[in-house]
Amino acid sequence: MKPNIKDLSFSELSAFLIERKHPAYRAKQICQWLFKKRAVAFSAMTNLSQGLRDELAKDFSIGRLSILRRAESRDGTVKFLFGLADGQSIESVLIPETNRLTLCISTQVGCAYGCAFCATALLGFKRNLTSSEIIDQIIEASRELAAGQRITNIVLMGMGEPLANYANTLRAIEIMTDGGWGLGIAPRRVTLSSVGLIPQIQKLMEETNVSLAISLHAASEAVRGKLMPVNKKYSLQALMDCCRNLPLPRRKRITFEYVLLRGVNDSVADATALCRVLGGVPSKVNLIPFNPHPESEFERPADADVKRFQQVLFDHNIQVNVRRPRGDDIAAACGQLQGQAEGRWGESAAQREAC
Ligand code: SAH
Repeated sequence: MKPNIKDLSFSELSAFLIERKHPAYRAKQICQWLFKKRAVAFSAMTNLSQGLRDELAKDFSIGRLSILRRAESRDGTVKFLFGLADGQSIESVLIPETNRLTLCISTQVGCAYGCAFCATALLGFKRNLTSSEIIDQIIEASRELAAGQRITNIVLMGMGEPLANYANTLRAIEIMTDGGWGLGIAPRRVTLSSVGLIPQIQKLMEETNVSLAISLHAASEAVRGKLMPVNKKYSLQALMDCCRNLPLPRRKRITFEYVLLRGVNDSVADATALCRVLGGVPSKVNLIPFNPHPESEFERPADADVKRFQQVLFDHNIQVNVRRPRGDDIAAACGQLQGQAEGRWGESAAQREAC
């Protein structure tokens, strides 16, 4: 197997070209073909010399993801099951909203963090995605769009923990955000969500301008520890101290995600504690009423309890949104992505046959 050219960073590709006595500006042209024009063959790169095209084809491949399944929800959300070269699979979710089109992408096959309520956790950790596998989710989903449609926002909130796959995620972010040869998505429109890996969060905020979301899910060490094993290594207190000291540009806020689990973390006392925990951090809160999946014993709170929780945050002047479940009929809502499970695609067997 020849290496996938999309796994090279821009500087690695430039270095390769210089070593082969080609002008460095060719790197920009090649990347434009790969990422802006979504070329699938070197022969299509008509502004390169024939010699360079042949050389590239000899040394590299242009890998692709295969679409194993595609399911569309009643609300317009589309879930893709992508097949990887080694037979593993991952999910991505396209979420149309009034003024934007968001793609939620995966960064690992499975996940090692074992959050108690999450479907991906059940897979355990399989492997990191390469940077090309991260970026190709955007490229392949873009090919499926109608003319004139464009993905405007990326959320790194699919399967896996992006900051546990730091180097490849950062390479992919460079490609997403570069305006000259990459996908040209503004950094603030790229949101990375983490379980709370403190050293990598600090690094990310120094090295990029992407938006940060942190999965908090509880306002006490005891409850967070029960829900999220990572709390043993990076406690709630250490995480919030880290957040208070991050180099955030003025007016930029950290998004805190809080999955609401009936009877576990959804009381008025929990909401009040959350307001206290967020003190001193420029924050907005995304409340995610739990999305059930077959393997879980947790339950979603009643709507009135979600409202009551939200009201406490309002009363403390905290910006708060309740995330509507998108694509729950096709198991595409937050925390339901589980790649390999059969029969979770919201279709009847007959529809599946027709695919
Ligand atoms: N590992 C990263 C990103 C993946 S999960 C992280 O933990 O942030 C994206 C978000 O969905 C996280 O906030 C996660 O806790 C939440 N989530 C997981 N399972 C869920 C479920 N069943 N219902 C609602 N949200 C869930």
